[in-house]
Amino acid sequence: MRRTSKFRFGLVSISVALLGCSGADDPSEVGAGYQDQEFSTTPGEPNHEEITASALSFLKPEIVIALQAANVATDVQFFLVNANHFDDCNFTGGSQVVRASEAEAVAALAPDQAPVEGDVLAIRAFGRALHALQDFYAHTNWIELGGETLVDRSLGAFPVLGAYSTIPSTGFVVVQGPKPPSAALSRDEAASYPKSAVVSVKLGGPRHAKARSAGLISGTVDYEPGNFCPASVAMTHEELNKDKSSLVERSQQYEAAKTLAILQTEHEWCRLRALASAAWGPAGAARLDAWVAAGAIAPTCAAEP
Ligand SMILES: [Zn+2]
Repeated sequence: MRRTSKFRFGLVSISVALLGCSGADDPSEVGAGYQDQEFSTTPGEPNHEEITASALSFLKPEIVIALQAANVATDVQFFLVNANHFDDCNFTGGSQVVRASEAEAVAALAPDQAPVEGDVLAIRAFGRALHALQDFYAHTNWIELGGETLVDRSLGAFPVLGAYSTIPSTGFVVVQGPKPPSAALSRDEAASYPKSAVVSVKLGGPRHAKARSAGLISGTVDYEPGNFCPASVAMTHEELNKDKSSLVERSQQYEAAKTLAILQTEHEWCRLRALASAAWGPAGAARLDAWVAAGAIAPTCAAEP
């Protein structure tokens, strides 16, 4: 999800620090034509902010605000990087952004890191991971394929989604790059939405003799370099995105994408806490528990059996 409208930076000092030295803090610095891109929403819908606040409502308000700022900073700092938004069928890149960003957050929570600086770095990295994962549900056909569960509910490092691998939670096959020679891809372009967004994959070969699976794609964005969507089944970002409620024919899918984004965001808190515990022991978990608001109850974090 992106907006061309004003970004609300500088809410509190921690938010300013989140932008770091490499980030362009004025959208006009990103490049000519930025304001003409099609993500213009008037008025803008603060979806990433709402998803983050709703999922992490148990955190201290200043932490939520800082995470929101870090999250939406992705749309400026990584405007042209499809991996950060799960665009262009770059699932491997997107999953690596999540995995690497969460690893960066965990490293910043090391007991020997200065508490405030460490927290700022951790929030910046975690917010970046959350942005990508929230976009996952809005930019892919996960919802149109009937995906009702999360892409991953483990408590380990976020899995790398390999090209033409099968996602365990749903059985969807990751459509990314040229199809394997024995595979067949199809999509009924003439069908009405949401059927038009259903991709079918027949992997072929002895192990998959007759199996036909749902194929996971994401929308193509032509100003982001690198398009991994096979032309025969590709859909544009305009055709597929569920970024805002005003896309009337996709309003149901928008709600579904937002619901899963909230659940995934809440789950990522659990993953981050588990990863911090694994790396640093009780001290790692304690660093994150200090983000929880007084009297608030953090979710009970249990991995899916
Ligand atoms: Zn985005």
